[in-house]
Amino acid sequence: MSIKEAGQKDWQEERYTLQRLLVRTSLFASGQDVAIDKLLGELRDVLRRETCDLGILRQVQTRLDQALERLDEKRSRSERDLHQALERILDQVEQTESAVRKQFRSLEKRIADLGPDSESMASWLTELATLLESHRETLDQPEDRGWRRFFSRQRHDAMPGPAGRPIENALVSLSEDPADDPRVNIARRVGELLEHVLRQVALEPSAHARAQHLKQLLDQSMEWPELRDALNEIVDLVIAAVSRSRNEFEAFLRRLDDRLAALKANCQAQAEARQDQRDASDRLNQAVSSRLEDMGQAVETSTSLDDLKASVSRNIQSLSSSFQAYREDECRREKALENELAAMQEKLAGMEAYSEQVQEQLRAERSRALTDMLTQLPNREAWQQRLQFEFERWQRYRHPASLAILDIDHFKTVNDSFGHKAGDRVIQLVAKVLCDRVRTTDFVARYGGEEFVLLLPETPVDKAYTVIDDLREHIADLPFHFQDEPVGITISAGLVAFEQAETPEELFDMADKALYRAKDAGRNQVTRA
Ligand code: GH3
Ligand code: MG
Ligand code: MG
Repeated sequence: MSIKEAGQKDWQEERYTLQRLLVRTSLFASGQDVAIDKLLGELRDVLRRETCDLGILRQVQTRLDQALERLDEKRSRSERDLHQALERILDQVEQTESAVRKQFRSLEKRIADLGPDSESMASWLTELATLLESHRETLDQPEDRGWRRFFSRQRHDAMPGPAGRPIENALVSLSEDPADDPRVNIARRVGELLEHVLRQVALEPSAHARAQHLKQLLDQSMEWPELRDALNEIVDLVIAAVSRSRNEFEAFLRRLDDRLAALKANCQAQAEARQDQRDASDRLNQAVSSRLEDMGQAVETSTSLDDLKASVSRNIQSLSSSFQAYREDECRREKALENELAAMQEKLAGMEAYSEQVQEQLRAERSRALTDMLTQLPNREAWQQRLQFEFERWQRYRHPASLAILDIDHFKTVNDSFGHKAGDRVIQLVAKVLCDRVRTTDFVARYGGEEFVLLLPETPVDKAYTVIDDLREHIADLPFHFQDEPVGITISAGLVAFEQAETPEELFDMADKALYRAKDAGRNQVTRA
């Protein structure tokens, strides 16, 4: 293989690498903008072609620049809208007579100083949520008329939860008419705004599922702690999504732009080198034929052998220096192409590293989206995925497996007597016990509120009963203390064997019903479906 052929081969490989990177990286970037998606598709087509068309590349690059500009505009427009909507909420809050007014004023002042970017917006929302939480007593005052007027505009009735079962909190609380709770209504309004933001940004599939679930919860739940957690989590999603879509997508496009420029330069260098080579061959051809012509003439016109010898020797010398010059030129051209290729390789290596880094970030984001913030246990989304997986495995191998739902007894009383912070701590402690005491092959998740779910693969239901009942006993024996007062914490559980149900949903439902029988029978016990 000549150097030229080798260079050609390397060049093809570089193109292939670039294309692979582009496909891989643009997969995560797609869905941000219709025009850009289309452009990326066309670009992939261009790169797939055998020949490198400078004109098309140039065109694609111009359009990419325009799309970037449009994207910037669109972003700042949607951020402006968000900003204004939040300011409207604050205006309304302003009109209230409550004691929190001053604090909201200062928050409002700060929002005016914020740049119109969704990230500071998200941190501002967290602050709003915290403020609302810290003033729950004040907000609960009946004379807080302004809050009620504004935030009770939309009433939501209790609806079936995502798994098709009623949200029991909502039903239990109906008698207290919690839709009058201004915090619940604030949560709904803020939830609407956040949903608006979430619609503007591309979410990873698991984060998207999580957002859907949170949105549903914001629409339906009547419980402030649950709503507060959901708000905080949505804010996390917004931050993750916004920073991902802005920084990474734009960085991706800019790098792509850079790569395209390199590709273009490389094409240009190749084209020039080919032209150079053609020119050099032409020059050599001309030199050779004119020397040969000279020699022919010399043969015809020379009168002496000495004359002829001298003329031929001159011509041969001239020919050989023409060949020499041509060879040197050729070497120079090849050297230049090699350098060009090395530079391109370096840039591609950078792009490859960047692509790795993006994937790493995506992995971290995914794990965040599957973790419950309060307990660090897998959350409901992670649970749904795992349940589906274990159920399919069970259908294939038919090894015994069990499922349990655990619920803390009279948890409302803990909250009511010792406050939500104490309640949160109880949830964290129970989560830790569950996490510490189950086998590594078991799977435990926080389903929501004070409810946990447990999957026990390779475990017949009798064995599972012993495991869960030991857990129950262990928790009942824990020495909980609040304000130096001993408080008994117990759990109830419903248990079901995989072979009892046809679908994961049915399985869950059966365990849920068993749990309610355990509650009815006096709590602090485990019941089998
Ligand atoms: P039962 O024995 O029948 O289960 O009664 P319970 O009081 O435990 O059940 P209920 O469903 O009536 O109340 C659960 C309460 O849990 C209502 C809600 O305010 C509270 N809660 C839900 N999530 C959280 C949370 O993250 N932190 C705190 N502190 N409380 C929460
Ligand atoms: Mg409970
Ligand atoms: Mg419950």
